[in-house]
Amino acid sequence: MAQDIVDMPARQKLVIIGNGMAPGRMLEELLKRAPRAFEITIFNAEPRVNYDRIMLSPVLSGETTFDDIVIHDDAWYADNGITLHKGKRVTRIDRDAKQVIAADGTVAAYDRLVIATGSSPFIIPVPGHELEGVLAYRDLDDVEAMVKAAKAGGRAVVIGGGLLGLEAAAGLRVQGMEVDVVHLMPTLMERQLDTAAGHLLRKAVEERGITVHTEANTKAILGRNGRVTGLELEDGTVLPASIVVMAVGIRPSAALAAEVGLEVGRGIVVTDQLMTSDPDIFAVGECVEHRGQCYGLVAPLYDMAKTLAATLIGESAAYEGSVTATKLKVTGISLYSAGDFAEGEGREEIVLRDASNGVYRRLVLENNVIVGAVLYGDVSDGAWFFDMIKRGTDVSDMRDTVIFGQNYAGGTPLDPMAAVAALPDDGEICGCNGVCKGEIIEAINTQGLSDVEGVRAHTKASASCGSCTGLVEQLLSFTLGDAYNPAAVQPMCGCTELGHGDVRRLIVAKSLKTIPEVMQELEWSSSGGCAKCRPALNYYLLSTWPGEYQDDAQSRFINERVHANIQKDGTYSVVPRMWGGITSAKELRAIADVADKFDVPTVKVTGGQRIDLLGIKKEDLPAVWSDLNDAGLVSGHAYGKSLRTVKTCVGTDWCRFGTQDSTGFGIRLERFLWGSWTPAKVKLAVSGCPRNCAEATCKDVGVICVESGYEIHFAGAAGLEIKGTEILGHGKTEDEALEIIAAVIQLYREQAYYLERIYKWAARVGYDTVREQIIDDVARRRDLFERFVYSQCFSQSDPWAERVKGGEAHEFRPLADLTQMAAE
Ligand SMILES: Cc1cc2nc3c(=O)[nH]c(=O)nc-3n(C[C@H](O)[C@H](O)[C@H](O)COP(=O)(O)OP(=O)(O)OC[C@H]3O[C@@H](n4cnc5c(N)ncnc54)[C@H](O)[C@@H]3O)c2cc1C
Ligand code: SF4
Ligand code: SF4
Repeated sequence: MAQDIVDMPARQKLVIIGNGMAPGRMLEELLKRAPRAFEITIFNAEPRVNYDRIMLSPVLSGETTFDDIVIHDDAWYADNGITLHKGKRVTRIDRDAKQVIAADGTVAAYDRLVIATGSSPFIIPVPGHELEGVLAYRDLDDVEAMVKAAKAGGRAVVIGGGLLGLEAAAGLRVQGMEVDVVHLMPTLMERQLDTAAGHLLRKAVEERGITVHTEANTKAILGRNGRVTGLELEDGTVLPASIVVMAVGIRPSAALAAEVGLEVGRGIVVTDQLMTSDPDIFAVGECVEHRGQCYGLVAPLYDMAKTLAATLIGESAAYEGSVTATKLKVTGISLYSAGDFAEGEGREEIVLRDASNGVYRRLVLENNVIVGAVLYGDVSDGAWFFDMIKRGTDVSDMRDTVIFGQNYAGGTPLDPMAAVAALPDDGEICGCNGVCKGEIIEAINTQGLSDVEGVRAHTKASASCGSCTGLVEQLLSFTLGDAYNPAAVQPMCGCTELGHGDVRRLIVAKSLKTIPEVMQELEWSSSGGCAKCRPALNYYLLSTWPGEYQDDAQSRFINERVHANIQKDGTYSVVPRMWGGITSAKELRAIADVADKFDVPTVKVTGGQRIDLLGIKKEDLPAVWSDLNDAGLVSGHAYGKSLRTVKTCVGTDWCRFGTQDSTGFGIRLERFLWGSWTPAKVKLAVSGCPRNCAEATCKDVGVICVESGYEIHFAGAAGLEIKGTEILGHGKTEDEALEIIAAVIQLYREQAYYLERIYKWAARVGYDTVREQIIDDVARRRDLFERFVYSQCFSQSDPWAERVKGGEAHEFRPLADLTQMAAE
């Protein structure tokens, strides 16, 4: 062993300046190919880990959170032995000493250096541009400043009517601000759209309550006491504002490279191998100028990243330039743009306008090859046009019909599957994340994926801007045939076109707090919903706004409304809670008395270690509850989409093999978790040793006590389906195990679709994704735990006692006969 260490050549030192999307991808490639080739150090001016910058707009609008867009968390750097200096800006490169020096004096020596400093937003030097409240739109700090300003109310002015400016404006509007967009040109996004399409976009933007000022030149930003108060246009118009966001373009951040004499044009000049004019220094990302071109979108940067990874380990590879496509990420506006729209000798266009349907398409052709495409209103053919742009397909044979899209090319509708079937395995499906067809098909087959969310979780395809979702669906259909069940993309019910995931997301994003508000804002097609959507909406609102949302009993299934299980003869069964399966003579006596007093025909011990009183008449229910309450018994929620039981074995109290107090922990867990409403029923078990007498390995969450603590399992099932659990993680102490369990249940409560059991949710989002959030990311686990604890303040009341007090007025009118589903 010692010999090996002596013989091992010292690893080369790789230093990276900047920790954005390009080097993030480069490192993934490098670690895949040669995990131990380099000792890696990264400096990042931003005080955070690597995240998906293109998803900042959904963070701004509240449709997602920063945690959800992190690409590599702290654990990833630690696991891969990478030193990440967060919040340290490199201010100097010493090419002679081969060192980089950060502002705080940190020095790192390199054998190979990668510059990945991205770009800087362009700030128009108008008077007042330095005032507090003038923001760019580039990183999370900008988003946080905008959200803070929005919380304080007031008005925002966004300078720039391009993609970024419109995304910022829409996000600020969703956050409740009054927003003006100031744009120098006569139409929005004039580089991509002609006047007519610009008009459609302007209408859609204004329909969102945003005021658009075109041909408007900023004269000055106005302020008082160093803070922004408004903006003055050249024509004298003054727009009041508490923030001004500049989104007028970006410049490659190449100053650091220029200072040390590297060749710099608009960006840092690199070869096809991403090498700068110094052979030990490489550059990648938006800071780069390659063959005279600078890029501002991720897909080309990811291509560069692959080439650079190969180059660094001595493989031969070349980056030869890219064409780019992008999509406006404003919910409800469909706009896709790809390629080049510059006017030029020999260029022609084909335009389709369907004004009444708000559809517009424009193709720019050169020598019968499409070089640019803009789709507005219906973007479904975007990937098809983009593929033809990239391949330089000659469209002479289908010129008459090409504008109508793939289904009509050549005059006859195509089999929608034909195009995706014809794509080669290395055909790119997700441009943002560089995922190709072969990778997706392999994941579908090897991981047993059956929906878009599964593909997203396992391959990252469609996880960024989402414009490839249609293609991913086609691939699922192509790979699984009839077995493809597009449940995840299916509407929740006949009252809406939105799926469960979208409804959950929009409830948060639009801050919707009541069922009527959801139905109004999300354009429900029925006046009052149906038996499918009302219980789901009630659950989503209850779990999203604990303490604020008032439970709507009428939107619950019959069993939950009457707090008992309806049986086939119309009578009810009543199950009192028996904490951790433990009871007492007093409780048994009370149960026996109730059985006598109300002529209960059957008293049964359930599979979950409790006693079920079957055959109780509906009108006797309040009196039964009252008697049971008097003996200290509360409802076992045996009917609820909520915590049911925590089954236990006798553990160290009585058993010779027990390593921990499994009964005590089971009771503690049940007392902690009871009353929490969940998307479907939740059952737990705790076994005192690996002999597993409590059968913990087929539960939603199972605990096996071991010498070193608690092995925590999840995602088991023993109902309609039988499934063994997966390991979630290990808790050293009872407190740690409790935190892990509460956090995973909270994550499930926040993410799952209504009626989706834990094992289905976990398979859909990916077991590893759950582990990453609960086990690897301790801060996230703690947040989830705290949210669970907070919501329990409003949940832990006994519904039987409330009902006995006359607290709830039940109308006993079922929405639908869903008893079988409720019982399962
Ligand atoms: C709001 C927004 C929306 C976008 N939407 C899309 C989209 O829909 N589609 C798309 O394809 N692209 C989009 N983009 C563009 C995309 O995010 C960028 O192309 C991509 O992030 C660039 O990657 P990069 O690694 O080159 O630079 P960046 O991701 O910008 O990372 C550069 C990093 O380097 C750090 N840095 C700079 N100088 C130093 C220094 N001296 N020392 C240490 N660290 C330094 C910076 O702090 C930064 O973290 C969007 C960008 C924004 C801001
Ligand atoms: S699981 Fe272990 S501790 Fe519990 S009863 Fe069985 S043998 Fe005993
Ligand atoms: S739903 Fe099926 S398994 Fe459950 S109690 Fe009824 S019959 Fe038994």
